[in-house]
Amino acid sequence: MKVLKFGGTSCGTTESIQAVLGIIKGKQAKGEKIAAVFSAMGGVTNQLLKAGDLASTGDTSYFDIVKGIEDRHFTVVRALIDVKAQSKVFANIRTIINELEDLLKGVSLIREISARTSDLIVSFGERLSTTLIYEILHAQGVDCQFLDARKVVRTDAHFGMAAVNFEVTNRQIQTYFAKTKSLQLITGFIGSTEKGETTTLGRGGSDYTGSIFGAALNAEEIEIWTDVDGMMTADPRKVKNAFTIPTITYAEAMELTHFGAKVIYPPSLQPAFAKNIPIRVLNTFNTDFIGTVVNRTAEPSEYIITGISSIDNLALVNLQGSGMIGVAGVSAKLFTVLAKHKISVILISQASSEHSICFAIEPSASASVKALLEEEFKAEIAEGDVEGIEIQENLSVIAVVGEGMRRHTGVSGKLFSVLGKNGINIVATAQGSSELNISVVIEKKDISKALNVIHDSFFFSQAKTLNLFLVGTGLIGKALLEQLKGQENYLSKYKALKVNLVGVMNSKKMLIDAKGISMENWEEERDSKGKTAEIWAFVEEAKRLNLPNSVFADCTANKEIHNYYLGLFEANISVVTPNKVANSGRYEDYALLHRTALKKGVKFLYETNVGAGLPVINTLQGLIASGDRFEKIEGVLSGTLSYIFNNFKAGVKFADIVREAKVKGYTEPDPREDLSGMDVARKILILGREIGLRLEPEDVEIFKLLPENCEKAPTVEDFFKELEVSNSYFEAMVNEAEAKGEVLRFIATLENNKITIGVRSIGKTHPFYMMDGADNVISFTTKRYHDRPLVIKGPGAGAEVTASGVFADIVAIGSYLA
Ligand code: ADP
Ligand code: ASP
Ligand code: MG
Repeated sequence: MKVLKFGGTSCGTTESIQAVLGIIKGKQAKGEKIAAVFSAMGGVTNQLLKAGDLASTGDTSYFDIVKGIEDRHFTVVRALIDVKAQSKVFANIRTIINELEDLLKGVSLIREISARTSDLIVSFGERLSTTLIYEILHAQGVDCQFLDARKVVRTDAHFGMAAVNFEVTNRQIQTYFAKTKSLQLITGFIGSTEKGETTTLGRGGSDYTGSIFGAALNAEEIEIWTDVDGMMTADPRKVKNAFTIPTITYAEAMELTHFGAKVIYPPSLQPAFAKNIPIRVLNTFNTDFIGTVVNRTAEPSEYIITGISSIDNLALVNLQGSGMIGVAGVSAKLFTVLAKHKISVILISQASSEHSICFAIEPSASASVKALLEEEFKAEIAEGDVEGIEIQENLSVIAVVGEGMRRHTGVSGKLFSVLGKNGINIVATAQGSSELNISVVIEKKDISKALNVIHDSFFFSQAKTLNLFLVGTGLIGKALLEQLKGQENYLSKYKALKVNLVGVMNSKKMLIDAKGISMENWEEERDSKGKTAEIWAFVEEAKRLNLPNSVFADCTANKEIHNYYLGLFEANISVVTPNKVANSGRYEDYALLHRTALKKGVKFLYETNVGAGLPVINTLQGLIASGDRFEKIEGVLSGTLSYIFNNFKAGVKFADIVREAKVKGYTEPDPREDLSGMDVARKILILGREIGLRLEPEDVEIFKLLPENCEKAPTVEDFFKELEVSNSYFEAMVNEAEAKGEVLRFIATLENNKITIGVRSIGKTHPFYMMDGADNVISFTTKRYHDRPLVIKGPGAGAEVTASGVFADIVAIGSYLA
């Protein structure tokens, strides 16, 4: 014998009921002996509760609700029962509906609803759905009977959550079944007291009915048919990567369901457990799927944990005071009074100092619990032994569950670290001594992010997803997306990293989609679906989404966007950028940014601030971290100035070289922006700060390259004319150098805490003597690289190489993720 239970989701519509009928008939065809328990049609229990409430205030719109319920049942009758047989069935259902209407009318007359009446009202949900299914099967010639569970399930009079009297119930079920051979169609959720009053077993209680019957009848298995593929590693509605757990123990299932996995109502496990009856959770809409078996032991699994679940809304009560230390009996008194008032405690945590006890409850109980405890601990509060009762609302609890945790160390470490890295604050924790469950209380706003990061870190320890918000889709941004797209397989295979493009914005349009934007069609998607670009709105949305492992890439040259970095760090979003503005402004702002990133555990990476894709900053940081000391930094840090001086020789006009550089696209539209040395100043300032110097922009001393007439020329063309006019000035410079066998280079130098920038004449032994094209070169003279400096040289500008530097920063964040 098997007992099958079909949930509200399986009994909700004509199509789902057809699926249910198919399952029942399929079992019968195979000769299996079964009984079936049904929930109310999905949503009906809530509607009945609402109807009761409305009636109790005299609001007659309860009528519409009842009409709606009737319609849903009639619709199924019309679809699944032969026309000739329909009128009798309509009449039968109508009789039940009439009884419900009379009851609600009574409530509306006396304007009062008791828990007892409420239970009677909701019982109609299961009575109607089960009658409906009985009528259909009966009309189809199946030998079956309708069994109102109130006939056999005996409970106490705790309405809304009645306790079952198993002795009487088991006997009555056994006696009843002994007398019949027909297929029994049983109402879930309801029972009755000794006096014949209708009771309910608690929300979700049809599962319990299934288990009660299964145990009483010594069934070989209890099947819970629902709308998902069995019990899953997390609620699939909240965690998109959740997957089916093939086998799970009663104890694990108890922990998961107690902490919110509503796929099984927790009390249902007890009767099955007591008799060692396996519970199989199956999907009505995917009948071939094997589902989950709950049993005494489970198959060994490759994962340390079995699943995670959550209760999304709860309150934490904190009782603390110095007078509680070492005083026996505070907890005893506390929990006795809670039990007496039937307050259910979801989780308890006590610091070992015994200075405080905190426990989690349903938020609806928080006001009454506060009053209750203030009364109970009146004397202790007056004495000052207890400081008071504090309630914290808007919290959630997550339970990480699994027998495998007993054999593993470091599970809590991993859990806390993944939460920490994602900026999720842990308000309280509790670990049962059975080591079957670790629970953490967090703020409600973080629940979805927390569930997903915990889930992925325990079940997909290999694969990490990074959520990317990209601002700036010019040459660098575009090249970056190209590279990310091209390397997708590589990243997944060798770095176990998936980059999910969530937001993309240029100066005109912005698009954010948490599900991800295609790396192929991002441009079209942004332009067709995007909104008008507003950086503040883009940043706010990035924060609001609160996605795990978020990275903001600023691939613009914009001077304002850096003002948002601080807020992004505060929201636990890392920043990657080639934009130098943030790092080269006032020292105070710079320091605050870096401090905040450190404090929040997020990354701020900007390798491309100096030398584009060349590994300058990472190398420098590596040297510092390993204890090296910097004595001098020198660099040719501008591709433009590099090109100009690499080609400027005696006999060549300086103006011609500058013009050539402009034509080749190496300079800004006005070459004076490069020749002023300002950009180089920003880069060397950044390097100075990296080695720990507290430098301000004005500490950089620039020896001007251009004579005043060139600097002051009103237009670019005038500027070139003035360069010609000043030709002898440049000629003298290069002649003097060549006379000594030297060359000119535009060099930034940091030595003795001082930064100077300007043209220098250098000899053959200098590492910058041999230069080509528009290369950048940086040399580090340190305690270790003392006699011969460490030199980094190569192309230091261009979209491709800059993008690859940004790419490397993004991948670096990926490898840091938990
Ligand atoms: P029924 O009407 O069949 O009783 P319920 O809504 O009571 O269905 O329970 C099934 C729902 O439980 C699923 O749709 C799913 O969203 C939710 N759920 C929560 N946690 C889990 C989990 N760990 N595994 C499967 N389902 C879960
Ligand atoms: N219909 C009841 C409820 O909604 C019982 C159940 O579905 O299990 O709570
Ligand atoms: Mg349910």
